[in-house]
Order: sequence, then structure tokens, then C-alpha cells
Amino acid sequence: MASTAELAERYRAVLPSFISPLYNRPISISHGEGSRVFDNEGNPYLDFFGGILTTMIGHANPVVVEAVQSQAAKVMHTSTLYLNEEMIAFAEEVAAVSGIPDPRVLFTTSGSEANDTAILLATNYRSTNQVLAMRNSYHGRSLTAQAVTSHRAWSTSSYSGLDVHFVQGGYRLRSPFRHLDDGAFTDACVEDLVQLIDMTDSGGFGALIAEPIQGVGGFATPPDGFFGAMGKVLRSEGILFISDEVQTGWGRTGEHFWGYGAHGITPDAITFAKGVGNGITLAGIVARAELMNCLKRSSLTTFGGNPLSTAAGRATLRYVLDNDLQSNAAARGAQMRKRLAPVCDASPHVAELRGKGLMQAIEFCHPASIEPDAATTARVLESAKDRGLLVGKGGLYGNVVRITPMLNVTEAELDEGLDILAQVIETLD
Ligand code: PMP
Repeated sequence: MASTAELAERYRAVLPSFISPLYNRPISISHGEGSRVFDNEGNPYLDFFGGILTTMIGHANPVVVEAVQSQAAKVMHTSTLYLNEEMIAFAEEVAAVSGIPDPRVLFTTSGSEANDTAILLATNYRSTNQVLAMRNSYHGRSLTAQAVTSHRAWSTSSYSGLDVHFVQGGYRLRSPFRHLDDGAFTDACVEDLVQLIDMTDSGGFGALIAEPIQGVGGFATPPDGFFGAMGKVLRSEGILFISDEVQTGWGRTGEHFWGYGAHGITPDAITFAKGVGNGITLAGIVARAELMNCLKRSSLTTFGGNPLSTAAGRATLRYVLDNDLQSNAAARGAQMRKRLAPVCDASPHVAELRGKGLMQAIEFCHPASIEPDAATTARVLESAKDRGLLVGKGGLYGNVVRITPMLNVTEAELDEGLDILAQVIETLD
């Protein structure tokens, strides 16, 4: 087996410069089990990032391994040209948990493609190229998904043909309305939305696309009810609401199965990816039939809904529901908050601890300010890794640590990881 050091050199030599390993001293991952992974030298790590919230119910989860192995031995690919029970059954199962009336489901290969599809549908349905998105958003790397992304570190192009306007409110800590209480903050953002539409509408907006909790943006969390209040304005204008649940879906927030559940709004479309197949390539969109069926031409995605990925999706969703992992996310989320809140309150380096359930984040700033401190964030990441804990990075300025354990993380595993993180924060000079 190649050493970690050798792999780091080969990675740099053959992959594009725009992708990079998380750590200054990168680690390899040779295998995993449950909440733990092991590098090529056999060192164990507690994994509280899951390959970006994607290994959702544990590494090598036997139910997913079994589903993938037995499906692989039968047939791996057929395409949507043929009837395949795994795809149809999983579409039915996703439809049933979506909360969208009369839903239709399309599987895709990435979150970007799912969001592309949502925007394709909304702009066709509403006959417009105008779209609304939130400030501090991330929706993917395709040209359309980039167009609705407003996170400078990850914005590679604005060349899409869409006319996108960005709405206030996703990222409260750096909002001009940050000093207001929840209700007044929401009202101010809604007023801004009204004015934005008033001033920039040139034939009608197709949709507002939003992450209920902004993922790459550092788990920026608007007040509960925020999107419901936005939704009233949207509805009065006929503008659709697309909830990008790529990070917030499947019970991760603990209190609801989907992130939109905190807001008193039913989206016209939900996009999902990442955790849905516990690591197998799988994503998709579920939308009202009237919206999903609005295209007048044919459109397919070759790999979308292939039997292998949908078998993994079915096993994962069944496991989440059968084991009530949403409740575990709520309980473990409360445990995380209880352990980290006093540590964060006492640290001059922490501006905010935020998020819900098993998606929580710590924003690091220079003391007594909201001036981002990416250097301290990088130190926290490296130091946690050196002590055997993997967490993620995020935020507009790379100054946010994201903590997203598996949905089936145990109380003891969480304690173990949080102790490491607490020690790291407490010993920052
Ligand atoms: N939406 C959100 C909220 C995401 O976090 C991501 C990925 N980080 C995407 C869309 C894009 O997904 P993918 O990388 O699978 O294209």
C-alpha cells in the first residue's frame, strides 16, 4: 500500500490545482467502520465530517454494503430506458417522505445537477431567466449552480445566462440587520426582498433557491419561520421556492426531516444529494407534478437512478427511518450544544456557535470582533486531526469549523470527539 506521504505527492501532481486536501499535512483514508476511519498507516480517526456530510449512517454500514453487493451481482446499470424496480421503488419512497403534494422524482448524479434541474424547471415553468438566491449560498459547480452561488471562495464563473439577484438573510452574523431580534430581522429581510423584486423584476422571477441552513457558508442559520415569511411574498408574485436540502435533509437537523420544516413553508421542489446513498453517487429532485412535468422536450441523465445507487439509497433511507435517526440527531445535537456552548462562550476566538442537530459550526474571529480568523480555524482543524478527530471547514472566509457526525453516532463517540475539540479550543493560546 502506498504511504500517505507518497499519495500526497501523486495527488498534487495529477489532480487539478483548484482542488486541494483539507489539511496542510493531508491524511489518507484506507477504510472505515461506523464513525471511525483509518489511514494507510493504520492510525484511527473519529470521523465527524463524513466526507462532507455524505457518509451519513456510518462507514461500511452492513445494510448498505449488502444492498450494493447484491445489486452489483445482479445488474449495475440499465438507464431510464428500461423499467427497474430499485429506481421506481426508491422514487416512491422519496416521494412519500418529501412533504410535497403530488410529487414526481428525478434522480441525478450530483447535487449540482439536481439544482441545475430545479432551475431548468422553474425557468421553463415561469418562462423567465430571472432567479433569486440567498447571499452566502453554495449550490454546486455547474454553470447554473455557480450562477446562484454567492460564496466568493467557491465562485468560479458568473457566465450562465441567468439573471440572478441575491436576497438578504442567510448569514445573520454579517448581515446589516444583525442587531435586530429574530422577528425584526426576518421583517427587514422580507422588506428587502419586496424592494429587490420591485426594482429588478424584468418579466418575473422563476424561483428563490435557498439552503435552509447554508452548508458551505458555514451553517449560517436564519431564524425559524424565515422562509415562510419570504414565501408569502414569493407566492403573491407567483415565484417558486426551491429548498436545497443537500446538507439539511434526512433528519440531520434533528427537529425536522427536512430543513424547510422549521419555516412553515412547503417548497415547490426539494433537491437532495450527499447523504442519500451513504456515499454512493446519488442525488435528485422531487417537485410538484405540474412543475416537474412542464418540460415540452425529452431530457434524461444516463446514470441517474441506476439500480446500484438507488439500491444504496433505499437501504440508507430504510435505516434512517427504522432506527429513527432524526431523534438521535436531536438528542446528540443537544449533547453537542451542551458540551460546546460553555467552551465557545469562554473562548475569545469564537464569535458564534450555531446550527441544529448534527450540523453545528463554530465561527472563529479575532477577539472582540467579527473579523474572520482563518489561521486559527486552520490550527483547530490540524490540531483536532493530530489528536484523532476529523471535522470540516467552511464559511465565507474559511473561518468556520463544521461538525457533522454520522446520524447514528453514539453518545460515547460524540463525547470522545467533543472532548478533543473542547481541548483544542481551550488550549488556543
Ligand atoms: N448544494 C449544497 C447545499 C451543497 O452543499 C453542495 C455540495 N457541497 C451542492 C449543492 C453540490 O453538490 P455536488 O457537489 O454533489 O454537486
